Amino acid sequence: MTSTPAAHDCLFCRIVAGEVPATVVAETADAVAFRDLDPRAPTHVLVVPRDHHADVADLAAADPDLLAALVLLGRAVAEQECGGHFRLVFNTGAEAGQSVFHVHGHVVGGTRLGWSPA
Ligand code: C5P
Repeated sequence: MTSTPAAHDCLFCRIVAGEVPATVVAETADAVAFRDLDPRAPTHVLVVPRDHHADVADLAAADPDLLAALVLLGRAVAEQECGGHFRLVFNTGAEAGQSVFHVHGHVVGGTRLGWSPA
């Protein structure tokens, strides 16, 4: 992705490093889960790898085990917060709504979710 910032300019790298505050709800050696500042559902948590990858496709290509770890952290958050039922959304590319180019999964749940991606 041409719009990918260098990791040292990356907001989510700075959250992972503890340089920018966030409400962390779970973490592992590989990934951190923190509440979205602008929640769209009763549960709205972002799961991010500690390593910088621009988007989910880059992550899948570079480190599929880390992508799996991210999905499992999302499940653990959902089990804590909303009975294990969740949607995991990876906006990928600016046209698809990605605004932070450090891969993050939106774990959303806690209500009956509609299906209207556009
Ligand atoms: O998919 P997208 O890249 O648009 O998602 C970025 C998300 O990061 C937004 O939902 C925004 O509310 C969230 N965010 C945050 N904390 C910040 C900056 C952005 O939770 N400091």
